[in-house]
Amino acid sequence: MIGTDSKANISTTPLWQDHVAVPELPSNPLPAEVDALIVGAGYTGLSAARETAAAGLRTLVLDAGAMGSGCSGRNGGQVAYSLKPSLKALSSRHGEKRALAICEEALAAIRYLRSLATHEGEDCGWRESGCFYGAHTKRHFEIMAREARQQIPGLEQRISVVSRADQRQEIATDYYHGGCVYHDDASVDPMKLLLALLRRAQAGGAAVRDRCAVNAIRRSHGGFEVLTDLGTVKARKLLLATNGYSGPLSPWHQRRVIPIGSYQIATEELGTERVRSLIPHGRNIVDSRRIVVYFRPSADGKRIVFGGRAALAEKDPIACVPRLRAMLTRILPQLQPVRITHAWVGWVAYTFDAMPHLGERDGLFHCMGYCGQGVPLAPYFGGKIGQQMAGLAQGRTALDNLPFPSRAYYFGSPWFLAPSVWAYRTMDSIGW
Ligand SMILES: Cc1cc2nc3c(=O)[nH]c(=O)nc-3n(C[C@H](O)[C@H](O)[C@H](O)COP(=O)(O)OP(=O)(O)OC[C@H]3O[C@@H](n4cnc5c(N)ncnc54)[C@H](O)[C@@H]3O)c2cc1C
Repeated sequence: MIGTDSKANISTTPLWQDHVAVPELPSNPLPAEVDALIVGAGYTGLSAARETAAAGLRTLVLDAGAMGSGCSGRNGGQVAYSLKPSLKALSSRHGEKRALAICEEALAAIRYLRSLATHEGEDCGWRESGCFYGAHTKRHFEIMAREARQQIPGLEQRISVVSRADQRQEIATDYYHGGCVYHDDASVDPMKLLLALLRRAQAGGAAVRDRCAVNAIRRSHGGFEVLTDLGTVKARKLLLATNGYSGPLSPWHQRRVIPIGSYQIATEELGTERVRSLIPHGRNIVDSRRIVVYFRPSADGKRIVFGGRAALAEKDPIACVPRLRAMLTRILPQLQPVRITHAWVGWVAYTFDAMPHLGERDGLFHCMGYCGQGVPLAPYFGGKIGQQMAGLAQGRTALDNLPFPSRAYYFGSPWFLAPSVWAYRTMDSIGW
């Protein structure tokens, strides 16, 4: 037993995969040669494949795991403006004009997903629920309220400031010091989104194969020889869509993404009424700490799905349950007696400049580094990199070929993670 939860009764399969029917993928031999080979069948890889295939390139997507085993089948499904650096920080790096264009891409990513769900009718559990950002301290509230009043022209979002006195209209707690509702934020069912992107890639003509790892890449005759579990495939163009699962396949890329475990738990079924009594508008909830916690009603509205960083170093997701449960019940003490039925982890990819990166290096394309916020970014930038692979001008973005930094001390294993988490956690605890 861990607290009120019996270890044996907690599933480490993400809640979203419980009742979903993943279609069987073809198991015929791999083609000897393709125009575009994409490593990784998450949101990025499948979106890219849709574009390369639609442009007439013979396209093959390979994934080492089963469909949904990467982050795209195990995330929180929250859709928000998803770039971490501020416009000011980006302006000092890239100049004002390019910085604004970069921020506009993040808004375009939300529009892209909304259009997929609403105009193109893809069933991805899209909910225009908005998000309540809770202020962890009084000062955070003041900053949030000021930012809501002084929005940057061209990047405006619909925001309401919620005082602490009115906060219970958003969430049944006094834990926060007020906050802001971002009305344009939304949520998806992560697995439904993944399957929608799979259908689109296949309908466009791409072949998708899971449980087939790419083990090595060799350059040959202006293209690539790709060594896989199921034989060698020649490819004219190659995309790494491996994000937090980027291994030694390309050491240059591995040195630029920092894999970090992101953990989630789901409560037992509470029923829609009880969930509504806790989060009346069914919104996503995010708080203003550095070590962020985020939660929302499940796609069927019957549970709470809660995510955050439970430990300094990476841990078994079940071992994280007591801490995550404690974090949740500090905010919503009403959930104290409730059982946790699911706990899982996935590997997100941070980067040293906290930015996603897409581009090409000597014919090898990449699109990765969403810093834990790829639900809107990965389908959008994945589509863009696919268009770039197909040589289409509409694939250009303001982020193309930004310098992709690494550090002299980093070779793919983030030994500095535990001290960083400790430092951030300390800052959070003193409200700094
Ligand atoms: C717990 C959790 C909660 C999250 N919540 C949110 C959220 O609420 N909102 C949000 O915006 N983002 C969230 N994210 C992040 C988001 O899920 C990711 O940014 C996004 O899914 C990345 O998609 P991707 O296709 O680039 O990578 P992935 O979906 O991770 O796919 C990469 C794939 O590459 C494959 N691969 C790697 N190496 C090889 C190889 N050599 N051969 C073959 N295949 C290989 C892997 O098997 C994997 O399937 C969350 C992530 C986690 C883990």
